[in-house]
Amino acid sequence: MSDSYRIEREHMVENQLKKRGIRNSRLLEAFRKVPRHQFLPRNLRGKAYTDGPSPIGEGQTISQPYMTAIMTQSAEVVPGDRVLEIGTGSGYQSAILAELGAEVYTIERIPELLEQARETLRQLHYDKVHTRMGNGTLGWEEEAPFDIILITAGAPEIPGPLLEQLAIRGRLVIPLEEGYSQVLYVVRRSQKGFHQERGERCTFVPLIGEYGWKKDPRTR
Ligand code: SAM
Repeated sequence: MSDSYRIEREHMVENQLKKRGIRNSRLLEAFRKVPRHQFLPRNLRGKAYTDGPSPIGEGQTISQPYMTAIMTQSAEVVPGDRVLEIGTGSGYQSAILAELGAEVYTIERIPELLEQARETLRQLHYDKVHTRMGNGTLGWEEEAPFDIILITAGAPEIPGPLLEQLAIRGRLVIPLEEGYSQVLYVVRRSQKGFHQERGERCTFVPLIGEYGWKKDPRTR
């Protein structure tokens, strides 16, 4: 497949990821490989490798590349991990996880976005990504437990059903509301219970649903 964006992708890896301390070589290789532009609407593809989030329609965004990287790095993915992602969006994060050898289960609440993401993932042959339409705050009970749960939308608190579906030794990564933006938290589960670590500040679109925001806080 000819890929005229390869050089832009290399700049993204060097300037946005490596310079900010992303060092994991497998992770950097995944970012070199996944054609991020193909996850964007056609008219925005020219800006696919800029240093920020981009609109994907329906008031939603594909996250900033660095934010996708830091979430993935925090999750410590190893090949064969079963990963639940809440917020499929464009499907880009799912593709990165699949490149790292994960079996991915991803849920999106907006049908139009899910349909587009499914089509992109199909065209790029990401067969290890399983998609579902619905309210991700309830998790995917039939496929639990998961080694990793990534919530790619900002939540007021950690949804209880997701904690229940996390395996022992599992990692859950979530942006939680704190003041005027959010903070990325990593929650680890052990035999003894849950241990929570506070990470960096971030800004995500809201997690909407029974165990998230009851309605979109941006329209209050
Ligand atoms: N991971 C995505 C990517 O790589 O393009 C970006 C996700 S975007 C920042 C957040 C997504 O979460 C939006 O598409 C939004 O519709 C979705 N979302 C919000 N609440 C949700 C819920 N309860 N269940 C599933 N998806 C949800």
